[in-house]
Amino acid sequence: MKVVAYSIKSFEKEFLAKANQKKHDITLISNPLGLETTRYAEGKDAVVVFTNDDVSRPVIEQLAALGIKFIATRSTGTDHIDKQAAAQYGIKLANVPHYSPQAIAEHTVALALSLNRRLAKAQEHAQHFDFRQEGLMGFNFYGKTVGVIGLGHIGQAVANIFTGLGCLVIGYDIAPQPELKNITTVTLEELYAQSDIISLHTPLTPGTRHFINAAILKQMKDGVMLLNTSRGCLINTADVLKALNSGKVGYLGMDVYEHEKGLFFEDHEHDAIKDSLLQDLISHPDVLVTPHQAYLTREAVQQIADQTIKNLDMWQQSKCVGKACICAKNCRAIETAITI
Ligand code: NAD
Repeated sequence: MKVVAYSIKSFEKEFLAKANQKKHDITLISNPLGLETTRYAEGKDAVVVFTNDDVSRPVIEQLAALGIKFIATRSTGTDHIDKQAAAQYGIKLANVPHYSPQAIAEHTVALALSLNRRLAKAQEHAQHFDFRQEGLMGFNFYGKTVGVIGLGHIGQAVANIFTGLGCLVIGYDIAPQPELKNITTVTLEELYAQSDIISLHTPLTPGTRHFINAAILKQMKDGVMLLNTSRGCLINTADVLKALNSGKVGYLGMDVYEHEKGLFFEDHEHDAIKDSLLQDLISHPDVLVTPHQAYLTREAVQQIADQTIKNLDMWQQSKCVGKACICAKNCRAIETAITI
């Protein structure tokens, strides 16, 4: 299959090469997919993308006109893809349904521990040979209540680590959950009222956009720690900044940012104009920002590459990609029905 893969970072190449074993003819480019870069898809069968690529309707229209039949995203989240538009043009879609949830869970807890124990500040001081302890006071996680919203693969992995730290973990999921080890399921209202730390692990959907906003923040404990390694748009960032400034929110750990598209994954140090909301957050002493790196472990990146190549293999054999199918018109269901 002839493929172009967009937004490829240098470190991904060896993992993709290992997974591909020269089966597919893949052109790797660092440019993101957008209206200006669809031309690289000319003559290809499939396009491989990442979270910040533009896979909106106008881009899909251009890809369809170039004869693209398949789009595979190297991510679990699929909110960057207009699935209805792809269905309309007969383009099949696939994601990486689950890869190493521990990678994201461990980063989530790393944010929490680092925020609490002021590790970034301590390191900055140490670099100046300043070893005073003022401003480095934290709290014990042991005995604290952690509220996990979204009890899928990552939410459950996060719950397990916090349980290991001696926290009481409560959780909420929109889908009915079987009894979960280590997690007491509660209503959202109970979760907001009881949690010292709240961690978000739902996908971004129209229903979860700005899930955390001024009205919801009022329901939380004063000084709550918010963790978001899911999608930036789950949070109304301006509302959370106000809550940080008033002390309502005590800490914010974010690996994803509402306006990260065109910003994260690249060096913007010398930009004349910088995103002022993000600047305010970064300069806030109780905020830790990482650049959408929660997935970034060797194990996870190899699993992403393996599943992406597997998706291309299946399409080449005219088969459905199974659990990786994210088509709006679920071709998996259609194929199963035909097979039966
Ligand atoms: P998952 O599908 O296993 O779990 C998501 C859970 O959220 C499901 O149980 C679902 O029922 C629940 N949910 C959906 N809408 C909800 C709502 N309104 N309220 C409460 N619960 C709701 O997915 P996962 O593998 O755990 O991944 C979760 C998200 O993490 C992904 O969608 C993606 O956006 C994000 N992610 C981020 C990174 C990163 O590097 N920062 C990496 C991978 C995934």
